[in-house]
Amino acid sequence: MRLKNKVALVLGAGSVGAGIGNGRAMAMLFAREGARVVAVDRDITSAQDTRERILAEGGHCEAEQADVSVAADVRRVVDACIAGFGRIDVLVNNVGIAELGGPVELSEEAWDRVFDVNVKSMFLACKHVLPHMERQGGGAIVNVSSLASVRWAGVPYVSYGASKAAVNGFSRYVAMQYARKNIRVNTILPGLINTPMIVEPLSKFYGGVSSMLAQRDAMCPTGSMGEAWDVAHAALYLASDDSKYVTGVELMVDGGLAQQVITPATI
Ligand code: NAD
Repeated sequence: MRLKNKVALVLGAGSVGAGIGNGRAMAMLFAREGARVVAVDRDITSAQDTRERILAEGGHCEAEQADVSVAADVRRVVDACIAGFGRIDVLVNNVGIAELGGPVELSEEAWDRVFDVNVKSMFLACKHVLPHMERQGGGAIVNVSSLASVRWAGVPYVSYGASKAAVNGFSRYVAMQYARKNIRVNTILPGLINTPMIVEPLSKFYGGVSSMLAQRDAMCPTGSMGEAWDVAHAALYLASDDSKYVTGVELMVDGGLAQQVITPATI
């Protein structure tokens, strides 16, 4: 019960497919560890699916709809969390989208959308949550970046890599500004994780779903991709008091992938 009596606001707690993405796994694991979870997603059906899974396990969860790139939506869910529970101990900024393409192929709108969803969302969430954490005397923020923020990921998605690099910088600055206020800000850099998110944008690039799964498994030093639970366990550590002296870190959850050269099938 490492999150007993804590309230966790998880943004992007659904999953684009039927399976379990990183945010859904975090919401479920946090609830198992005693947190009262507010599961937020653009897709309310998906957030409700997460809620039902948590309730079925005897946990506590509310589901809210919001587009995290829209200021009024973010404000509304933060207000709802405070109205319902009076506090926010843990904020997880998990939402991320990927658009394939380099500067030539990507439209300006796609570039802006990726930055709005991947980066501005974290700015908006922190803008509204930090004052509550300060008033409470502390809190933990977990931002989900990507190994693609620090290196070539084998796929040409420049807006994704650049936006995730911005997430790292954003997290570092907020971590330092709030370190004396007992508010910790840490970043997770997942490597290749087998979640529903990768199927739609990436399968075309790798020549089909089964070929993509095989190629991504083969790229990992362990011989297989990670799963959403691996990311969730890292988030649990960073969200809980187990990491009370940890702030400003970039924690790779990548099975050692950062240590080796990634060889894409084609570019
Ligand atoms: P996912 O797509 O399964 O989950 C993300 C959720 O965010 C979905 O439920 C989706 O509906 C929601 N969402 C998308 N846009 C939204 C918006 N504007 N407002 C609110 N909700 C929105 O993805 P995932 O694979 O679990 O990825 C979660 C995070 O992990 C992302 O930040 C992603 O960049 C990161 N990540 C994933 C991998 C991987 O290999 N899967 C690797 C590195 C990093």
